[in-house]
Amino acid sequence: MTRWHVARLVKVRDENATARTLVFDVPGWPGHLAGQHVDVKLTAGDGYSARRSYSLAGPEGVELTVQRVPDGEVSPYLTLDMEPGDELELRGPVGGWFVWRPDGPAPVLLVAGGAGIVPLMAMIRARRAAGADTPFRLVYAVRSPERLCYADELLRPDPGVSVTLAYTRRVPEGHPRPPGRLTAADLGPYGEADCYVCGPTGFVEASAALLVGLGHDPARIRTERFGPTGD
Ligand SMILES: Cc1cc2nc3c(=O)[nH]c(=O)nc-3n(C[C@H](O)[C@H](O)[C@H](O)COP(=O)(O)OP(=O)(O)OC[C@H]3O[C@@H](n4cnc5c(N)ncnc54)[C@H](O)[C@@H]3O)c2cc1C
Repeated sequence: MTRWHVARLVKVRDENATARTLVFDVPGWPGHLAGQHVDVKLTAGDGYSARRSYSLAGPEGVELTVQRVPDGEVSPYLTLDMEPGDELELRGPVGGWFVWRPDGPAPVLLVAGGAGIVPLMAMIRARRAAGADTPFRLVYAVRSPERLCYADELLRPDPGVSVTLAYTRRVPEGHPRPPGRLTAADLGPYGEADCYVCGPTGFVEASAALLVGLGHDPARIRTERFGPTGD
């Protein structure tokens, strides 16, 4: 098991009104692959501690993006209260299956629901950092335009990366797709690809079923569920 590190918050960036990116300085961090996550531990003065998992948002350094869950125990602290200079403990990197390596030659299909964009953004960033030309397609389901993370970066042209935004509840003016859950039409037509699906449990299960229905080999569909985590 990897050891706990003390991580000092050095920078925050609001992605939207409910999600924040936190950049940490972690002496001794061993490095990681795109798609891996960390376990974060917060400890109160009386010794009570809470642990949650958060995906690494980029290929280098320890950068997390946290979507605030109303009434949550940990995410409101990370997105509203924690300030540069504050410290927490984290352990990682964790996970060896839901990862993408820049030398992977197969085309990649990324399917994100809500905060599930975080490890998939790490894969897009890793591809760019490595100068890889693997074709990438991202389908990103998000409730409304206000909930988009990494909007500037995703809407900027990135050769070889195509981005489809699927708003589930409210679309911006002029958006061609009506609001609604992901359908096979959003994910298809079938083309050979390594698939990575990440988001809330129900979203991941429904999306993986759509991919299998389109003809994707289940052995090439990797999933990461962002259900509630903790001790
Ligand atoms: C491998 C992994 C990676 C993750 N990466 C990220 C990430 O990059 N960014 C991110 O924002 N989150 C991520 N999560 C989710 C994260 O670990 C927490 O579950 C989330 O931040 C809520 O914690 P909390 O303490 O604020 O809420 P809690 O106190 O745990 O929960 C409060 C209430 O909200 C419900 N709830 C908890 N989590 C969710 C959820 N995800 N969606 C809807 N309702 C929920 C609970 O059932 C409960 O009713 C990841 C989870 C896993 C398993």
